[in-house]
Amino acid sequence: MTTLPQTTDKKLGLVIDLDTCVGCHACVISCKGWNTENYGAPLSDQDPYGADPSGTFLNRVHSYEVQPEQGAAQLIHFPKSCLHCEDAPCVTVCPTGASYKRVEDGIVLVNESDCIGCGLCAWACPYGAREMDQEEKVMKKCTLCVDRIYNENLPEVDREPTCVRTCPAGARHFGDLGDPDSAVSQLVAERGGVDLMPEQGTKPVNKYLPPRPKDTLPSSGPEFDVLAPFLEPVVAEPKGFLGWLDKALEKI
Ligand code: SF4
Ligand code: SF4
Ligand code: SF4
Repeated sequence: MTTLPQTTDKKLGLVIDLDTCVGCHACVISCKGWNTENYGAPLSDQDPYGADPSGTFLNRVHSYEVQPEQGAAQLIHFPKSCLHCEDAPCVTVCPTGASYKRVEDGIVLVNESDCIGCGLCAWACPYGAREMDQEEKVMKKCTLCVDRIYNENLPEVDREPTCVRTCPAGARHFGDLGDPDSAVSQLVAERGGVDLMPEQGTKPVNKYLPPRPKDTLPSSGPEFDVLAPFLEPVVAEPKGFLGWLDKALEKI
């Protein structure tokens, strides 16, 4: 069994906005691309061009249709990767110490050379956030791009997780959730960010921003005309040169 640090100097993590995520999978592809060449590389694929392809992905996006009590159904795209939990059961269950949580920033990592591929950590993680690499037979997971965020060979703008850097919708944010004044903590406070499955007692560092309620059609009253804004005349009565032209053309 492996022990967790009592506390960590920082709580680096992600804030994912379920309101603006469009489910494009750009974060999935950039994650696979970066991590198949860097820390934990390669991420193997099985039968990639065959009838039953599968592979190792450290970040996945699932889409759900949700029916609110009132109004139209909503499509929610739900990106999921390791949440770098404070009370990470994947660490305490590990028999070799391969899984560990860093004191300096709270990132949960796997030391692959100590991993025996027993799979206990994947069983213990309530979020399904661990990936057994079927070729290498070792456990892999999101590293929060530990090889980017401190990498002085990269331009400063690139020193954040590749999923955050790539997201075209600005739905992913990275920072220190242990600092109440950080931009990510402020965002979580403003938008009512939530823990995923808090009842599991894992204290995930990553937070999710819930989708905002969508406009609903009025249940009574005049029928809602979605085309109305486009059917309004741009100018009721042409003026100036256009007015003169209009009148001149009417006479022809
Ligand atoms: S999300 Fe799962 S793999 Fe990541 S730290 Fe929490 S329990 Fe461990
Ligand atoms: S699969 Fe590897 S990291 Fe996971 S519990 Fe077993 S030895 Fe630890
Ligand atoms: S890249 Fe951004 S918008 Fe696209 S699926 Fe990922 S989080 Fe959602």
